[in-house]
Amino acid sequence: MISVSQNPGPSAWNELLPNRKTLPSLLGNLTSDWLIVGAGFAGLSAARRVQKEAPNDRIVILDAQGLASGPAGRNSGFMIDLPHDLASDDYGGQIENDRKTIRQNRSAINFAKETVEALGLPTECFKEIGKINGAATTKGIRHNNDYAKHLSKLGENYEYLDANSMKNITGTNYYKGGLFTPGTVMIQPALYIRALGEKILSNRVRLYESSPVEELNKIGSDWQAKTPKGLVTASKVILAVNGNIENFGYFHNSLLHIYTYGSITQKLTPDQIKTLGGKKEWGITPADPLGTTVRRISGIGGDRIVIRNRFTYNPNMSPNKSILDNVLRSHVKSFSDRFPMLKDIKLSQTWGGHLTLSRNNVAAFGELKPGLFSACCQNGLGTVKGTLHGLAAADLAMGKKTALVEQLLNNPKPKKLPFKPLTKIAVSSRIKLGELLAGKEL
Ligand SMILES: Cc1cc2nc3c(=O)[nH]c(=O)nc-3n(C[C@H](O)[C@H](O)[C@H](O)COP(=O)(O)OP(=O)(O)OC[C@H]3O[C@@H](n4cnc5c(N)ncnc54)[C@H](O)[C@@H]3O)c2cc1C
Repeated sequence: MISVSQNPGPSAWNELLPNRKTLPSLLGNLTSDWLIVGAGFAGLSAARRVQKEAPNDRIVILDAQGLASGPAGRNSGFMIDLPHDLASDDYGGQIENDRKTIRQNRSAINFAKETVEALGLPTECFKEIGKINGAATTKGIRHNNDYAKHLSKLGENYEYLDANSMKNITGTNYYKGGLFTPGTVMIQPALYIRALGEKILSNRVRLYESSPVEELNKIGSDWQAKTPKGLVTASKVILAVNGNIENFGYFHNSLLHIYTYGSITQKLTPDQIKTLGGKKEWGITPADPLGTTVRRISGIGGDRIVIRNRFTYNPNMSPNKSILDNVLRSHVKSFSDRFPMLKDIKLSQTWGGHLTLSRNNVAAFGELKPGLFSACCQNGLGTVKGTLHGLAAADLAMGKKTALVEQLLNNPKPKKLPFKPLTKIAVSSRIKLGELLAGKEL
């Protein structure tokens, strides 16, 4: 039986939204042209591509959980166009590679934008406001300076922010400086996923929530997926389940199952909003990759601050629930260090979510068996990469060899991990050391 990864704590972004009528779970037998397993960024983007390119085809989407209850609705909502690391020189055409990655990331963001407009998703789910790489330390400032040099080489726009400008935007004087880049879109992840999952429905596209695929078998030229109360038969299947692809028997011992954690404050009162000052909406990624992401939001669910930090390695895809107590302590510290003026505000919800990396930073992509396709392993950047891989898997399955499909097919496969206990020690110590070295960026 195929198991599904666990995500501890509430899906807090989802809980900010009004109640909705959930979609049914699968009951009985269905035949379809397409089965898409997973209703995250990858699965819904694949479904939308097929819907547009093959409008007469029937599509069934199955998700083990409720819409936006999984990682797609639990993330910090940064749809980032620029890679975290940029090449320091043009050795081996690195600069052209960076340009290609940026073009691809932007094509995923454009796809999301066109989808928001075409399907009439709420504008609140997609805000083109850019992001700031915040530096709380001299080392962070050095990192930003370095990154800015690479951006100049690429001809990309950016703006340096000094400590004073950072305070004017965020209300806190915690940051020594920042680097603003305009291309990131800030999404309300649960609103985007919920609205997309609901608006994509038609007489040809059906989505069943709380319908985990427990078995997937090849029967003749078709595939059959069994859920607790139903069966779908389809000739083409796209697995858009990120790290859960390993539970389907593929990419065994090649994927790193990492969890990261978020917390959200209570609603700020008008007085607290005044005390804090700054702008109503902004997003900060940390200058150190193991530091803290911070976001100020305003709109449905009120004015709040969202923070994310800490990583754990959980090869069994099921972190111990007590991890959230530990994470909460870390979040409380990161929050109160940055916002001492909001000492009466509590973090009202803390949660975790599964993300998947490969050692060589490639996707788990391709045609696994005739008619069975994979759009998995987003290497932690699933809002953009999941979208791209979902679109590319749909193109591949429709016989369209786009440049992105060719590139993904030419990439090496995710590299095998060393002996399990060794991987655990190596990854866990790297995370611990990285968090220690992140210092005030955490
Ligand atoms: C706290 C946090 C913050 C993050 N911040 C960001 C960010 O700011 N920007 C960014 O780009 N990324 C971020 N991420 C990562 C991002 O959320 C993931 O990379 C992204 O959700 C992956 O998208 P996906 O569609 O590939 O997979 P998922 O979103 O994991 O969706 C896969 C779906 O498959 C379903 N599924 C699995 N197994 C089965 C089965 N057997 N049957 C049926 N359905 C199944 C699951 O229920 C799930 O809904 C963050 C993650 C977390 C946890």
